Amino acid sequence: MTDPDTQANQTASNDSSASKSGGALSGPFGIILSLLLLGVAGVFAYNTFYAAEPVKLDTPPIVCICAETGKTFEYKPQQSDTFPVTSPYTNKETGYRAEACYWQKDSDEPLEKPTWVLLNEDIGKAGVTECPDCGRIVVRHNPMPPGAGRGERRNPESSANDDAESATETTSDRD
Ligand SMILES: [Zn+2]
Repeated sequence: MTDPDTQANQTASNDSSASKSGGALSGPFGIILSLLLLGVAGVFAYNTFYAAEPVKLDTPPIVCICAETGKTFEYKPQQSDTFPVTSPYTNKETGYRAEACYWQKDSDEPLEKPTWVLLNEDIGKAGVTECPDCGRIVVRHNPMPPGAGRGERRNPESSANDDAESATETTSDRD
């Protein structure tokens, strides 16, 4: 019967008798033991690694607008994504982040469902972006009408603050 354990023990005893200076862990048995410990440590490290692996953030979908078709779609941005993203309508990278315009043409009452607008700056077009529905100017992080529950009324046409804000955001936000 060839038991690997007995073999290891035999070689260990042979070895320790040959080199008397070595301690209990210096022979082959010691090597096996340290390999075992390494293995255990490895399993721990493995487990720790997997436990520490960041869970993918469940980012909420954003509304994108297809520059070619003008249609909107929901998109879940991944960390490595840059705009434009692939539009489901063209299967090409024609999807841009849409801005919401909650204004109505002839009323200050906010819309329940916004008009989604493609910003000129996103597609490299010069000039301000006007909402195709109400004709108001639409900017990045477009402000909402007063009734829509976010702050007081802001008129993008006369507000210098808005311009400064969108300018700084353009530089920090560029792809
Ligand atoms: Zn509008």
